Amino acid sequence: MQRALLLDRNYMVLSLVSWKKAVKLMVKGKAEPVQGSSSVASVQGVDSKFNVPSILRLLVVIPWKAHMGRMRFTRKNVLVRDNHSCQYCGIGVGKGKSKNTSIDHVIPRSRGGKTDYANCVTCCKNCNNKKADKTLKEVGMILMSKPRKPTFMSLFKHYLKSPPDEWGDYIIGLKA
Ligand SMILES: [Zn+2]
Repeated sequence: MQRALLLDRNYMVLSLVSWKKAVKLMVKGKAEPVQGSSSVASVQGVDSKFNVPSILRLLVVIPWKAHMGRMRFTRKNVLVRDNHSCQYCGIGVGKGKSKNTSIDHVIPRSRGGKTDYANCVTCCKNCNNKKADKTLKEVGMILMSKPRKPTFMSLFKHYLKSPPDEWGDYIIGLKA
């Protein structure tokens, strides 16, 4: 069954929720259907039918941290941010666990480089071998772009599978 889009009080995208979670939130009075939203499912309650909206809005305030939690540092998120291309030579690297894909620490770990979005980039095996544990200056390599933390929306959009048109009102850049 299709999932529902959950917005916060200010109509900002929070996450996707299962229809069960959507029902729970509404029964507890923590969320309401967004006006004009179609229904993704209907659930038979004790004495009435309950329509699960495609878009619902949370009525309770949630901490900013909850938004940020979705952007935690993972290898997969680095690959998504870099569009699966080596940040040194631009070659497309395979998705998932492809043998040509690695994550490079721009400042090597052995020199105190951190494992975070600002210091890790997608890298092909060739470039990774060439760079090894040297700095960019030492090896004479240049980054195609400065690595930064991806935006919540760029990651969120990537993980969406065939979203309904009406979500385009809330997800920037979803509509063509
Ligand atoms: Zn490369």
